[in-house]
Amino acid sequence: MINLYSDTQTQPSKAMRLAMAEADVGDEQRGEDPSVNRLCDMTAELLGKEAAVFLPSGTMCNQLAIHIHCRPGEEIITHRSAHIINFEAGGTAAFSGAQVQGLDGPKGQFSVEAARAAIRPKDRHSPLTRLICVEQTANMGGGTIWPLKTIQELGDLARQQGLVYHMDGARLLNAVVASGVSAKDFAAPFDSLWLDLSKGLGCPVGAVLAGSKAFIEEAWRLKQRTGGAMRQAGIIAAAGIYALEHNIDRLAEDHANAKLFAETLRNLPGVKIDPAEVETNIVFFDIAGSGMTADPFVAAMKAKGVDLGGAGTSIRIVTHLDISRDDIMTAVEAIRAVLQEAKR
Ligand SMILES: *Cc1c(COP(=O)(O)O)cnc(C)c1O
Repeated sequence: MINLYSDTQTQPSKAMRLAMAEADVGDEQRGEDPSVNRLCDMTAELLGKEAAVFLPSGTMCNQLAIHIHCRPGEEIITHRSAHIINFEAGGTAAFSGAQVQGLDGPKGQFSVEAARAAIRPKDRHSPLTRLICVEQTANMGGGTIWPLKTIQELGDLARQQGLVYHMDGARLLNAVVASGVSAKDFAAPFDSLWLDLSKGLGCPVGAVLAGSKAFIEEAWRLKQRTGGAMRQAGIIAAAGIYALEHNIDRLAEDHANAKLFAETLRNLPGVKIDPAEVETNIVFFDIAGSGMTADPFVAAMKAKGVDLGGAGTSIRIVTHLDISRDDIMTAVEAIRAVLQEAKR
């Protein structure tokens, strides 16, 4: 199976498994796991923050951060396609009682002007605006990169208005590799942000949340409270250390493969795609012109050994370290065949 469904589908490599098998471990809950501590130090250093905490998932990073930053009835500003709105099972409302104002804007991004206009007046009728959240890269926007300038201007706005600024950095390192902007520079304006280890970095599990010492102490209390504190978690943290040492620069291959996919697919009749919009490892294309919809298309592709995702007439593929150039060419051939069979 050629698995283009998501970069969450990666299998830990032999070398990564070896690093896991040989990891030094201890009681993580007591702060005594050397591998977890090293992973947190490496991440804090990479992001230029005081401290970091290892968590089971990116969703938990977002939810703990939101819980620390927001009181019930307060409001978060983010893009309407954001993960925290659409894919966290209502966690923001359930755990923190915060509401979210979802902003419009192309490519999964909103403008500084839109954010400024969304900040509520300080009167008794309005929820208190508390947090601005951006997703780097913007997942449902097609893996687009928020420009450093916009990130910085939103940070200035947050500071002027007394708001907290949080980055969902599930794919921050894809943005770093594709843009040449350092992780530290992207991270600088944020009060909190996190990296996912289980996406393009190729780990089986885990994410790391970073911020000030005081913020991470609060995050640790919530990690304990919600059952996220672990024991010999160095076994999985070792995968993260391995990934930070070996799997960052190679994200460029995933971006090249995504571009290759889009450029090859462009010539297929019935497919709408703009290769210029592909900035990292996520590609959306539309098959409305073929007369097919996503469900039968995805099923027919699966039958040909290619796994991908879709809704309506929009299809998404994501490249990652288990996808080669050859896999891309095979997948495009399978798409050509499926669309031709549908025409007949
Ligand atoms: C995957 C993802 C998450 C959640 O990460 P998990 O580790 O799967 O919980 C959050 N935000 C974005 C943008 C993501 O792509």
